[in-house]
Amino acid sequence: MGTQQLDNQQLNIDYKVDHFFEEKIAYYKDQPSGECAQYIPELKNVNPNYLACALLLPDGKIHLHGDYEIPFTLQSISKVISFIAACMYKGPSYVLDWVDVEPTGDPFNSILRFELKDKQKPFNPMINAGALTVASLLPGTTPTEKIQGVVHLLSSLIDKNVTINKKVFESEWETAYRNRALANFLKEHNLLASSVEDTLFTYINLCSVEINVEDLAKIGLILSLDGFDPVRQIQIIPAPIVRLTKILMFTCGMYNSSGKFAAFIGLPAKSGVSGGILGAVPPSLRHHPLLSDGCGLGIYGPAIDENGNSIKGTRLLEDFIQVYDIKIF
Ligand code: GLU
Repeated sequence: MGTQQLDNQQLNIDYKVDHFFEEKIAYYKDQPSGECAQYIPELKNVNPNYLACALLLPDGKIHLHGDYEIPFTLQSISKVISFIAACMYKGPSYVLDWVDVEPTGDPFNSILRFELKDKQKPFNPMINAGALTVASLLPGTTPTEKIQGVVHLLSSLIDKNVTINKKVFESEWETAYRNRALANFLKEHNLLASSVEDTLFTYINLCSVEINVEDLAKIGLILSLDGFDPVRQIQIIPAPIVRLTKILMFTCGMYNSSGKFAAFIGLPAKSGVSGGILGAVPPSLRHHPLLSDGCGLGIYGPAIDENGNSIKGTRLLEDFIQVYDIKIF
């Protein structure tokens, strides 16, 4: 095939994917939206109609659609970065001495298990109990040092400085009744390596880091390539840590919809109550016209369902998986 033909083929693929996202976003924008997270006052005020996506390919080409310039806070997507940071600095086996790798069918902020059994490790690092434990294990003696370690890792993944949205932080800090209760249970069972208040301060600050869909797609791409950034040609995270993280995202990343998400969408992904979804398509789709080398996905739609997952974002992803026939198994 000549170069001209290849170029035309590529243009056609690009055109089709842009058209696909534009059409879907326009369609979902007109649908009733649902509500943003209600329990964090500052998130309640966000426009529930926002919808955006970013798809980043290993050659650096990015497809951005919808409200892609709107920043939002990481919320539970920070659990992925904190877990990676804790594993990088302390070693995965040390971290897994404190937190298990089992899915739960319980809500993300459930306290239930701690009432039922004495001293039980949190089920996994993707739910609040596990993420609080992980936050307490981060390197550093003060919360500021712990936060800085994760922020530094995040900045190196997306190659830019990030900031913490102080309004969102304050708003959650003042109303974190359930997370405070959870942290107290964990402390009672010796499942926190720092104090309740220091752990909460670290965790909530990390949930309040601001990013956008392009940043999520960059992280997704690095995860899809086992820690390697193909654009800068550097290994940022050790591959075994990324593989473990992706397995946890696949089995536990979408809270108590993780099973359904794995069955019908089938990608390692992590959601947050701000409406973000981080996704990674591994380079295992041989001969796929668009995604044979993998890609990173970032989605944003702040109206969430009862499990804490973006309603329109999940539908958009589901459509993409179906139309582009993305089957990683
Ligand atoms: N900061 C939120 C909380 O702990 C994060 C939850 C989420 O995104 O699912 O409640």
